[in-house]
Amino acid sequence: KLKDRECRCLVLGLDNSGKSTVVDWILATYKNRPRQSITPTVGFQIHTVPFRGHSVQLWDVGGQSTLRPYWDNYFDKTDVLLWVVDAAAIARLEESMGELTTILRNRDRLGYNCRIVVLLNKKDLAAELPTVLERLQRDLVREWRLENVPIEVRASNALDGEGLATLLPLVVWGRE
Ligand code: GDP
Repeated sequence: KLKDRECRCLVLGLDNSGKSTVVDWILATYKNRPRQSITPTVGFQIHTVPFRGHSVQLWDVGGQSTLRPYWDNYFDKTDVLLWVVDAAAIARLEESMGELTTILRNRDRLGYNCRIVVLLNKKDLAAELPTVLERLQRDLVREWRLENVPIEVRASNALDGEGLATLLPLVVWGRE
């Protein structure tokens, strides 16, 4: 059935982490759309991307703090929550992890079997990337796996797409 072929990926994270740039890379790569100059996401946008016979919906939700109370509304039936982090903004790492933790504590609102991918974006600017990666693996991933939350951490550069090619395979995973 066509419905079974629809997958949903919710793209969330603090403002300026690179969400729109990640989405732009995906649209350029899988829909042959020319890359576009990015303006801050206002409200939200839904994009549909064909991938391996699936129809992947990308929900790009603005990250400004005024919009955060509305994130909840989009959680339904999410297959993958892509949590985008500016890995170069060490000063905002705690805020970002705090927001993610709030979501994970209320994860009954997410779709059944929703998987979490934490994307450490702007790896090209992140001199401290190995430290951040190690810290998240040790604290976040271990802690939530104990609670049976499937969560993994990836690093990416959304400008050139490094680290992004494995995202859509993750989203459709389990649907084939
Ligand atoms: P959003 O607010 O989370 O949607 O963030 P944007 O996608 O608008 O990106 C914020 C800024 O970071 C823009 O100027 C992007 O060009 C830049 N940016 C996004 N990803 C990367 C990356 O991987 N590396 C670098 N150097 N800049 C990036």
